[in-house]
Amino acid sequence: MKNTVTFETSTVPIKGWSRQKVISELKKRLKKDLSFSSRRIVGSMCTRAHPFAQALYCQNMEKNLGDPGLFEGTAQIESEVIKMLGTMLGYSNTVGNVVSGGTEANIVALWAIRNFTSNPHKNEIIISKSAHFSFDKAANLLNLKLIKISHNDHFQIDIKKVKKTITNKTLAIIGIAGTSDLGVVDPIPELSRIALEHNLHLHVDASFGGFVLPFINKTDKSEVPAFDFRLAGVSSITLDPHKMGLATIPAGVILFRNPELMKKIQMKVDYLAGGKSPQTLLGTRPGASAIVVWSLLKHLGINGYGKIVQNCMALTDYFVQEVEKIGSISVVCKPTLNIVGIKSNIVRTADLSIALRQKGWAISQFPNHIRIVIMPHIKLSHLCMLIKDLKEIIRVFNKEKREYATSFK
Ligand code: PLP
Repeated sequence: MKNTVTFETSTVPIKGWSRQKVISELKKRLKKDLSFSSRRIVGSMCTRAHPFAQALYCQNMEKNLGDPGLFEGTAQIESEVIKMLGTMLGYSNTVGNVVSGGTEANIVALWAIRNFTSNPHKNEIIISKSAHFSFDKAANLLNLKLIKISHNDHFQIDIKKVKKTITNKTLAIIGIAGTSDLGVVDPIPELSRIALEHNLHLHVDASFGGFVLPFINKTDKSEVPAFDFRLAGVSSITLDPHKMGLATIPAGVILFRNPELMKKIQMKVDYLAGGKSPQTLLGTRPGASAIVVWSLLKHLGINGYGKIVQNCMALTDYFVQEVEKIGSISVVCKPTLNIVGIKSNIVRTADLSIALRQKGWAISQFPNHIRIVIMPHIKLSHLCMLIKDLKEIIRVFNKEKREYATSFK
């Protein structure tokens, strides 16, 4: 590829560049990036942030929640976000933080849970094999042991195996409300009962599902899986505004039911310009993220988020129907959320992935399927083009297969 970078790349210039020169050099480099407004990104859990969020983020970039005494208004906004989301998820007295995303929230949750126990031998976390790798990072950082449980026929954590795995070393169970690979929701009501029975923490990773499940419109409410604080055993929840919440990156949220859990990870910092204040994992952290989440919750409201989610779910249903019509390709399971796994019985997943990428689609490849995430930036016309390309790919592979077979006749 032609190297378009004309200026020195590895040194800080002695004499600074003009803004114009900086912008023109940036343009050359950023041309390589994909954009959510192109049709191409169909495998990501992120999306183009709401325009209101983008503007608010830019206006509030100096707000630092690491020194809340200086930014009392922003600190109040953060606590209102925690209350609003807690209430939305069934418990209005939650405590927590706006954090950088699902990874930080999951690490913080396990950190608090680990510090809360007085028994140092309790270090095992029961978790589904489909859990996000942020838990591997958390376990590594916190010296915890993950006991990974295989899934049932519906790709959910196997409850029988969970029960069998509990020992006196078990510290917590993790339930997932929207797995990274297929958007599956674990049987959280059953995990909640088990957690209560054995006096264990139950952390729910609703990084993706947290901004989808509350807005799914089903006449029969029992079709929407329960996952939140309405279940008495749920002790903490991760949810990510920078996924289906349409917030600017970075924006994640950790919610705790019991304030004592959060106290276990709070450290008082004495020297801050705004006065003494407790911090958790990060020091300096973007207040703009909390402001954006607060504003989107107030601006879109339940109805606004409802419309967005229902549109994504309708497109998901459409996509599933059309995939099933192609032949030689199918969905891995009926989607609960706006995430679809597709696989073929004639094309290996790796080859399907290469073929789709060659046609310009940024899909997500898992060992046995391709993941398509129908985020709010995806339009019906994009899905029609994707279906057309899938048909073409399958036609070519079928033709090759036939030619290969006849060559032996
Ligand atoms: N949990 C789940 C279920 C996820 O799918 C992801 C990311 O895709 C995360 C956690 C981590 O989120 P982040 O990338 O915001 O750190």
